[in-house]
Amino acid sequence: MTTSPSPVHVIGGGLAGSEAAWQIASAGVPVILHEMRGVPGVKTDAHHTDGLAELVCSNSFRSDDWEYNAVGLLHAEMRALDSVIMSCGDANQVPAGGALAVDREGFSQAVTAKLEAHPLVAIVREEIAGLPPEDWDNVIVATGPLTSPALAEAILKTTGEESLSFFDAIAPIVHADSIDFDIAWRQSRYDKEGPGGDAAAYVNCPMNREQYDAFIDALLSGPKAEFKDWEHVPYFDGCLPIEVMAERGRETLRHGPMKPVGLTNPRDPTVKAHAIVQLRQDNALGTLFNMVGFQTKLKHGAQAEVFRMIPGLQDAQFARLGGLHRNTFLNSPKLLDRQLRLKSMPRLRFAGQVTGVEGYVESAAMGLLTGRLAAAQAQGRELSPPPPETAMGALVEHITGGHLEGSKFQPMNINYGLLPPLEAPKVDPEGKRINPKDRGRAKKRLMSERAIAALKAWRDA
Ligand SMILES: Cc1cc2nc3c(=O)[nH]c(=O)nc-3n(C[C@H](O)[C@H](O)[C@H](O)COP(=O)(O)OP(=O)(O)OC[C@H]3O[C@@H](n4cnc5c(N)ncnc54)[C@H](O)[C@@H]3O)c2cc1C
Repeated sequence: MTTSPSPVHVIGGGLAGSEAAWQIASAGVPVILHEMRGVPGVKTDAHHTDGLAELVCSNSFRSDDWEYNAVGLLHAEMRALDSVIMSCGDANQVPAGGALAVDREGFSQAVTAKLEAHPLVAIVREEIAGLPPEDWDNVIVATGPLTSPALAEAILKTTGEESLSFFDAIAPIVHADSIDFDIAWRQSRYDKEGPGGDAAAYVNCPMNREQYDAFIDALLSGPKAEFKDWEHVPYFDGCLPIEVMAERGRETLRHGPMKPVGLTNPRDPTVKAHAIVQLRQDNALGTLFNMVGFQTKLKHGAQAEVFRMIPGLQDAQFARLGGLHRNTFLNSPKLLDRQLRLKSMPRLRFAGQVTGVEGYVESAAMGLLTGRLAAAQAQGRELSPPPPETAMGALVEHITGGHLEGSKFQPMNINYGLLPPLEAPKVDPEGKRINPKDRGRAKKRLMSERAIAALKAWRDA
């Protein structure tokens, strides 16, 4: 007689938890999904309904272009793995050009109905207000950026201070190959060697007085995103938005993140820059650099325009724009293993935004993966995450290892900079020369093809 595996418990019925529950049940393993919305008097500050997979803000899953856009690639990978979030998104799409946008109510109702109808899924409306009971030996915590305070407190006690953040302070991140090194140069302040022996760890972008003045004017006049009451971020020095620093005085940034001291422009050592913007390597691959100290509440639309005023960044491509949000997330590179389990308590797996990915699709993708990993564990099967050449594998790599040691871990959307780099092709498959300005695009296409092939090989193995 065969015994059926004991159930996996999923805490949180958002994007990640719903997808995880679907994947577990689809693998033939029973799952109990615990969602606190629906309990009278229990809510989050952003959700408005009791529906599973509620979209708290925009109704867009962003670009659906798998060939040239990293989030579109993630859509394609998830579709190839029978994602319930993608199938319900596709069934409820509304016109949005090249993006996948959905009717939010229809989408959430469709996900809820699919899970309710599945014979292996039980949905329990309750808050898990502390660590899950000891006899739950295979648990996925997918409680999102607004994890209830009682559970957040319990996690904090288990993992220790510094291991759980309640706000993100995000500086923009630039693709290294879009920085103009005819203007920028590499040097650490006072040529100070880092622990790895590198005295040229930073990228420096110099400004003269006129350029600095114009930049400060643009910062001060640019449109800013408003905080909602409940998400008000307690500003502390070290994470002040740059426009708030500029409001405190036009010279403040020159004495803060843009100070020009200890740096010499190799192109003309006699000319002293009036201000210097520094960028620091952000991932182990060296494909991404963050703008040091440039966390900002400028609206996304304005950011690219303002930051491209910085000499050397005039053609910058941003892997991520800056922000400051309320967001509960783990210091995952320190705490999680490659199976996304808490190293100190492996019966707990984490999924979704709480792991330090950012966005609806990325959260759901991590739910998909942890669902498959938890189901494999319940069935006594070995399963590793997909390889880093895939968008999903690249996200796992970012949250568990690819992040550069020593720098503060911050949440990240999927982008091509997280995937192992490829040389931009000079000729197309027919041997025709590719115009240099189109080579970046051709490279994305190659990376996407590589990703889909690697994902299918992983799925079918
Ligand atoms: C205000 C806000 C706006 C955002 N806007 C966007 C956007 O426009 N586009 C985008 O791509 N991303 C956005 N995000 C980021 C992120 O993509 C979403 O938060 C996304 O919903 C994260 O998915 P998740 O499954 O990790 O968490 P969620 O979807 O939030 O799901 C977590 C679930 O866990 C439940 N829960 C929490 N604690 C407990 C507990 N102790 N016991 C039981 N259940 C619990 C919650 O009720 C919730 O249903 C936004 C985030 C916030 C906070």
